[in-house]
Amino acid sequence: MPIKILSPELASQIAAGEVVERPASVVKELVENSLDAGATSVTVTIEEAGRRVIEVADDGSGIPSGEVALAVERHATSKLASADDLFRIGTLGFRGEALASIGSVARLTLTSRTDHVEAATRILVEGGISASPQPVGAPRGTVVRVENLFYNVPARLKFLKTDTTERRRIDALLTRYALAYPDVRFKLIQDGQPKLQTSGNGDRRAILATLYGVDVAKQLLEVNAMEDDVKLSGFISPTSLTRSNRSEITFFINGRWVQDISLATALIQSYHTLLMVGRYPLAAIFLDLEPASVDVNVHPTKAEVRFTDPQRMFSFVQRSVRKAILAYTPVPQMGITPPALWTERPSRQSGVDLSWQFAGDDSEQLPVNGNQEAANQSQPDSQFPTPDSQSSDSQFPSIKMPLLRLVGQIGQVYIIAEGPDGLYLIDQHAAHERVLFERLLAQKEANSLSSQNLLQPAVVQLPPAQATLLEDQLDVLRNFGFEVEAFGPNTFQVRAIPTLFSGADPAAALRVLVEDFEDDETPLQNKLEDRIAARVCKRMAVKGGQTLSTAEQASLLRDLENCDSPRTCPHGRPTMIHLSVDMLERQFGRTGPR
Ligand code: ADP
Ligand code: MG
Repeated sequence: MPIKILSPELASQIAAGEVVERPASVVKELVENSLDAGATSVTVTIEEAGRRVIEVADDGSGIPSGEVALAVERHATSKLASADDLFRIGTLGFRGEALASIGSVARLTLTSRTDHVEAATRILVEGGISASPQPVGAPRGTVVRVENLFYNVPARLKFLKTDTTERRRIDALLTRYALAYPDVRFKLIQDGQPKLQTSGNGDRRAILATLYGVDVAKQLLEVNAMEDDVKLSGFISPTSLTRSNRSEITFFINGRWVQDISLATALIQSYHTLLMVGRYPLAAIFLDLEPASVDVNVHPTKAEVRFTDPQRMFSFVQRSVRKAILAYTPVPQMGITPPALWTERPSRQSGVDLSWQFAGDDSEQLPVNGNQEAANQSQPDSQFPTPDSQSSDSQFPSIKMPLLRLVGQIGQVYIIAEGPDGLYLIDQHAAHERVLFERLLAQKEANSLSSQNLLQPAVVQLPPAQATLLEDQLDVLRNFGFEVEAFGPNTFQVRAIPTLFSGADPAAALRVLVEDFEDDETPLQNKLEDRIAARVCKRMAVKGGQTLSTAEQASLLRDLENCDSPRTCPHGRPTMIHLSVDMLERQFGRTGPR
């Protein structure tokens, strides 16, 4: 083909690809425009996950009627005059591309009115072609309505995820902006349902409560730090409140939501040794610095930035957050730490290899689980493997365990038992997880899952993005004996839980379930169910640090004996370690006759 200059329509569609990736990116650009216009109220209305309608209405300064036609042109902006300005940007937008890009891949109607004028001006842009502006009646401010997104670029439509996912991204986005701009009143309506509403009274903690529920918001710790010209403020979770992924770690730089991996890493490192492997904190951190110390013009959607001194930012974040956590973290309780006997590894020190083995002979070494454990460690971000990939049943023969005689509990963590061939050290938590898991699945299989109505239904409030997700999964939950129903915006009522878990905290159970949904983007249904089962059981199982009565210890042993795969927890970790008679004798040098 000969070289040709692209038609303006095609060129702007290509440019739009960078800015307008999905409905949430449209919402982001429009909301940023409203904030730049000094709005004190921003209302976002979404229909069909943004495919059909995205409307953002504000009460900001408006666009002078003579400039409305220009606003929808490419490279048209009121926020930048000279090249120097580029290095001291005080607005969220500056590229002059958003409206033009959106107008080239959707039908865009912009209606705007400034102070002291008779009427508003409306302009329609469709497929990159704009009609001439018309006067209409409308209040001060700007309303941008975007319909039929990507109608003329079907390939883009194909890249969109499920409606739930796209709606969740919008929820998550608005949630962030609401937090960053507590003085602005935000309202989000999806398919006629109010999903988010903030008061605009400047109280961030109140917004956290709207977003995460009062109980989570109450627990969040406040951080404030200042170093030279950089100011850090925000909220972080205490070590007792964690998530299974990094999705609730948010950074704002000069009011701009950025996804900066190194800042998130700095924050996670602040929790070093304080969180369990695979758990992440929640945080919303606001950094304010001289516009000249940060280049925001390195990414089309401005989601990434470049600091003049990245190392300094990293260490500032890490130190400030660490200090705050340590100031709040209580001294660990005695009893949760296992006794010294088991924390020190005599084998390492003396150079003698105790060679602990799983019970059974070599062919029963559970190689699959071993590998998975290693794989988990090398990818701290990955979730536990799905239970069906290692529920042992399908992949290697199930290994039953011998009848055991209970000896007792140590360190409130392990149960000691004696078997025909030596000593068994059983991890009470892992063992209980396994027992619950097999019971739950067996009851489900036999259609005999019973649920227990709660005397007092538990009401749980979730962040909007999680609520959207849960709404779609209520049926799956019902299959497991959870009666959960919507109870107002982002709020759910748990009316019954599986009898198996009676006595457990229903609100906590629901939260864990939602985390699990979040980690599976497009799960296979049956896999999802197994994962849910494993996750719930993990949460419901007795923990290390809990004293068990002799009767409880004995019944846990009996239950474990009855399991099909008693040797591993549903996530593939061992439930028990076997110290064989042979091994003990070797270690004690009792090689001769007994
Ligand atoms: P940018 O935000 O990078 O300047 P946009 O294409 O998003 O580019 O917007 C173009 C111009 O239209 C802005 O510079 C601003 O002057 C005007 N504008 C857009 N949205 C609004 C709004 N909600 N209120 C007031 N002015 C707006
Ligand atoms: Mg803009």
